[in-house]
Amino acid sequence: MAKVLCVLYDDPADGYPTSYARDDLPVIDHYPGGQTTPTPGAVDFTPGQLLGSVSGELGLRRFLEEAGHTLVVTSDKDGAGSVFDRELPDADVVISQPFWPAYLTPERIAAARNLKLAITAGIGSDHVDIDAAIAHGVTVAEVTYSNSISVAEHVVMMTLSLVRNYLPSHRVVLDGGWNVADCVARSYDLEGMHVGTVAAGRIGLAVLRRLAPFDVRLHYTDRHRLPREVEDELGLTFHESTEAMVPHCDVVTINAPLHPETEGLFGDKLLATMKRGAYLINTARARIVDRDAVDRALREGQLAGYAGDVWFPQPAPADHPWRTMPHHGMTPHISGSSLSAQARYAAGTREILESWLAGRPIRDEYLIVQGGALAGTGAHSYSANG
Ligand code: NDP
Repeated sequence: MAKVLCVLYDDPADGYPTSYARDDLPVIDHYPGGQTTPTPGAVDFTPGQLLGSVSGELGLRRFLEEAGHTLVVTSDKDGAGSVFDRELPDADVVISQPFWPAYLTPERIAAARNLKLAITAGIGSDHVDIDAAIAHGVTVAEVTYSNSISVAEHVVMMTLSLVRNYLPSHRVVLDGGWNVADCVARSYDLEGMHVGTVAAGRIGLAVLRRLAPFDVRLHYTDRHRLPREVEDELGLTFHESTEAMVPHCDVVTINAPLHPETEGLFGDKLLATMKRGAYLINTARARIVDRDAVDRALREGQLAGYAGDVWFPQPAPADHPWRTMPHHGMTPHISGSSLSAQARYAAGTREILESWLAGRPIRDEYLIVQGGALAGTGAHSYSANG
């Protein structure tokens, strides 16, 4: 029987919801490109419920306990003596969400003597030390595509909100004011701007597709080039590297995983090559950019705006400079955890558990590491230090 240790974010401050803003979710059974949404044998939740917080339990308790397994759910993941550290040594499976990551450091992986499977309920397994997982034979899997479109929508929202100066203008309303000039002195149209994505994977391509109708000029860079017909359809300009792309762009959106190739990519040097007054949107991972370099670029006017939802560490401390830097549109890490996304990644987590517990292969597209090597999606999109 397996012990499953699940780390989730806290319930809402006013308690677990008893009702919701909407009564249902649209039914989506395929992602763009044809991959099916998760196909577990069953689910024990109603899509649209809050599943990612502690009381939501990703809808897993009945399924696991009826089969005789143990489920431990906690939000207490950091600091000496955390529940996570106490429960880890005999856990067979760890489940964590990038929004509230249980950092599986090399030390923790070494301490987790029974650990065989680390599931990311969502996408982006950089909170797991990939090299240590490879060395210890831990399988790492994530629910590929479950929230890619959720994030792409967030990127479009943040792009428009920065370029059009939405948040400061909304603030004027909240504060009882009406100074139109205050609002529009930093407000532009997106139309005609050059927008580039670092990576055109599931999220990056979805962002390009969603922005195309705004009559912008689209650019991308990626390790693998998109099919010619996609480039032609969207009028894409391909660049060999991020360094080659960013000087051409008014807006840059980062949609690559965090791995050795992308860590620290946007530092003072690269930011200085961007157009003065460019906007940078990062919903990928915080450590792809240099925290203080972004703060400086905003204060000096090199960047006109920065938005995203990814921080390091998470939760971000109260004195994190991104909370107070000028012209930012940061949210906590929420873009991939809409109620719509939660229904998909909770179902996908269950699908992965069902496969693993039954000794069946986990879908190849969910795999990041297996059998001591990068595998599946991981082999395509990640790199290891080796
Ligand atoms: P995909 O695996 O579909 O796409 C990632 C893309 O990044 C691939 O096309 C990959 O290239 C490309 N890539 C990798 N390294 C580089 C590099 N050095 N330079 C340029 N491109 C590179 O993943 P998704 O699009 O679904 O997600 C991307 C990332 O977004 C996740 O890894 C995660 O970190 C983040 N994310 C954030 C969420 C949030 O809530 N904010 C939620 C979901 C994801 P190729 O495969 O061609 O080698």
